[in-house]
Amino acid sequence: MTENNFSEIIVETILSVPFQENGYLIYRVGNQDCLLVDPGFEPEKIIERVENKKLNPVAILVTHGHADHIAGIDAIKDVWNNCKIYIGEEEKEKLIDAEQNLSAPFGFAVTVSPADILLRNGDKLNLAGISIEVRHVPGHSKGHLVYLLTTDSKPILFSGDVIFKQSIGRSDFPDGNPAIQIEAIRSQILSLPDETIIFAGHGPATTVGEERRTNPYL
Ligand SMILES: [Zn+2]
Repeated sequence: MTENNFSEIIVETILSVPFQENGYLIYRVGNQDCLLVDPGFEPEKIIERVENKKLNPVAILVTHGHADHIAGIDAIKDVWNNCKIYIGEEEKEKLIDAEQNLSAPFGFAVTVSPADILLRNGDKLNLAGISIEVRHVPGHSKGHLVYLLTTDSKPILFSGDVIFKQSIGRSDFPDGNPAIQIEAIRSQILSLPDETIIFAGHGPATTVGEERRTNPYL
């Protein structure tokens, strides 16, 4: 677990070991409500962290429906049953279809509860006292979203599996497309200010400026 402090907004990274997937816990100081991004395998680590902080998850923001990003959803909802699942409208089937979320092809079928709220590019949310802009970045999966948070200091982006430090996401899945992914990263992510922090679905955090300058795939 690592903690990043953006004056009033705290981001904790909670690593799920099986696929080295990053789940995120986000909250505003002084507000009991919190957000979760992509709870994957080992949700008990997230639950323990949230309970230790005496927080109340109001939303699970899903970047995309691959199994390693959704497997923990129902364990979270079992504890906080008013917590709502947010996902892209073109991605919703993956929550409930083990073929589409790629778990069945790997030999372990995972399905979770259906979505509560379907999102589209440009949607604006205000949850747990935090302003969030939704951006559609297809190419790794067709309905992949990234979530852009406004803070008092730097913008924060939760990028799922489209961009990583020095890398980009695979685009060879059935609903992937490499050309679309590159174009969407350029228009939806590289257009953000250099200081924007990127918290990716796998690996360490980076910034938009660093990736614009050094990412060999872009
Ligand atoms: Zn993925």
